[in-house]
Parts: sequence; C-alpha cells; structure tokens
Amino acid sequence: MKDLPGTSLQKACRLLVLFCALHLSATLFYYLAGTSLSPQRSLEPPPSPGLGPRRGALAYTNLSQLEPEPRPVTDCPETSPLLVGLLLEKANPELREGGRYAPQNCKALQKVALIIPFRNREEHLKYWLYYLHPILQRQQLDYGVYVINQDGEETFNRAKLLNIGFEEALKEYDYDCFVFSDVDLIPMDDRNTYKCYSQPRHLSVSMDKFGFRLPYNQYFGGVSALSKEQFQKINGFPNNYWGWGGEDDDIYNRLVFKGMGISRPDAFIGKCRMIRHSRDQKNEPNPQRFSRIAHTRETMNSDGLNSLTYKVVKTEKFPLYTKITVDIGSPKR
Ligand code: BGC
Repeated sequence: MKDLPGTSLQKACRLLVLFCALHLSATLFYYLAGTSLSPQRSLEPPPSPGLGPRRGALAYTNLSQLEPEPRPVTDCPETSPLLVGLLLEKANPELREGGRYAPQNCKALQKVALIIPFRNREEHLKYWLYYLHPILQRQQLDYGVYVINQDGEETFNRAKLLNIGFEEALKEYDYDCFVFSDVDLIPMDDRNTYKCYSQPRHLSVSMDKFGFRLPYNQYFGGVSALSKEQFQKINGFPNNYWGWGGEDDDIYNRLVFKGMGISRPDAFIGKCRMIRHSRDQKNEPNPQRFSRIAHTRETMNSDGLNSLTYKVVKTEKFPLYTKITVDIGSPKR
C-alpha cells in the first residue's frame, strides 16, 4: 500500500527528533565523561591562556587529550629524605652488639654460632654481613657471628681457626649448633637454612665456581654445620693443616670414621656464589695435604679439640660481629 503524503512528513519529523535526541545525549555523555575523568582538575593550576583545549570544548576533542595533565616536576631536595644512614646497622635494627640476634615473636629452635676464619678480607666480610644477616633473621635463628682473625704473618690455618671459634663462642653463650663459613661464600636461596641436622650438614653444595655442582662427592668445603655433639664426637677439626687445602677432606674423613653421613640441601636450594678474588697471601697450597688426608684415622684422636692451643690477642665487639684476634703459633718445622 502507498504512503499518504502526510504520513511521510510525520516519519521525517520523527527521524529528525530522534537525530536531535541522539546528538543531545552524545554531547551530554562527553561532557559528563570529561568531568569525571579528571576529578583532580580543580587542584591543578589553571591552564595558560591559549594553551590546551578549552573546557566546554571537550565534546570536540580527541579522547587522548582527556588524560590528566602531568603535574609540574620540581627539583628533588639537596639531601634526599629517603636516606637511612649507615646501611648495615640501619638495615638490622634488632641486632645486638657483637652480631647477636634472636627472633622476638617466637623461640628459635637452635642457637647457632657462625664461625668465619679470617685474615685481611675486610671487603669480603662486608658483603658477607650485608647478605647474611637478613637471611639468618628470616630463618628465625638465635645466632651470633664470630670472625676469628689470625694474628701475624704465619701461613693461614683455616681448621685451627674454626676450632678456636667453637671454643670461644661457647664461652659466650650456650650454642648448640656451629656453622663454619668461608668469608667469601654467599647463599643464593634463603631456604638453605644455616642450622644443624641429625647428620653433619654440608651447605655450600652448588657453588658457581664449580658450575653449580659438587666438585666431587666427598667435598665438604665452603660452608658446613655441625651440632655441638657432632663436633665433639670427631674431636673437632685438625690443627695441623697449614696453607690451602685438605683440611675439609680430613673433616669429611673424621665424620665417616665416626659413622656419620652427610646431609645436604638439593642442588637448587644449595646454590651459592663465591666472591671472586686472587689467592690470599700466605695461604699457598699445602704440599703435605695428601699425606695427611691419608692418615686421618690414626691422627684424629690426638689432633683436634684435645690438642688445641692458642692465645686470644684481642676481642672486639662490633655492631654486626664479634672479632677475636688470635695467636695460633707456627707449624712444626
Ligand atoms: C682440596 C680441598 C678443596 C677442594 C676444592 C681439594 O683438592 O683438598 O681442600 O676444598 O679441592 O677446591
């Protein structure tokens, strides 16, 4: 059926009204969107005349122009208010003098003495303290850090210094676990807990220096943990390995000869880094080490804690550690 002329006019009028309504609602939408997109506008300084879109002209601007205008950037103060001062001390507010700590919200399961054999390695010690304190605190240990510093210029004797650390730490507190750590070894995973287990624990099992694996199965160097009983059972460590190498193999032999096994974290959790350095002065490879390791069974009962002699030269309490300087004598020549 054909439309009457009046009906066509009506249709055209309706379309016009619809178009106007659409136009109006679009204008209203963009206006409201513009005010809610930038609620903080009133806090901003008024725009400079002639710059930026005029308010009220928002309906005709590109949407990207509706983003808030950047705040004016002022200069930072001469001294940043974010600084805390001496990093290590401020980062460890709960440490007590001498590098002692115990968790406040729970009772630690073990009292751990960390023993570091030392001479002229201040740079490495800074790294060790920086990384280890926060880790040990997250591990909820009741612990103390003892740096056993060999006095004089005689050849270095790592194992003897560790024996001394055991004796000296016990004079100060009733420790039940001893972690013996080289100063340059930093664990990469804080789940590698520096505590003792039912068997002697080897902690540095996956060192970067050895391609993140053990160099050999019997390796017990770097970082290890022995309970007081385990340590006493093997008569401590040998006192007569002067210079680099062999003493950790001797310790391994001692543990095996006393019927103990080695406990280890897996190669992932046991990852650690060694701070690179050239060989220390007066710590040349010990040429006697091979013959000594071959006789651990015969020597272990007479060389160790029961034959340990030394003199304490100085004890210093620093905020992050206790440093005990000792005269350990010389090798028998
Ligand atoms: C030495 C150990 C040393 C290991 C890894 C062995 O030959 O006897 O003392 O830890 O090599 O360097």
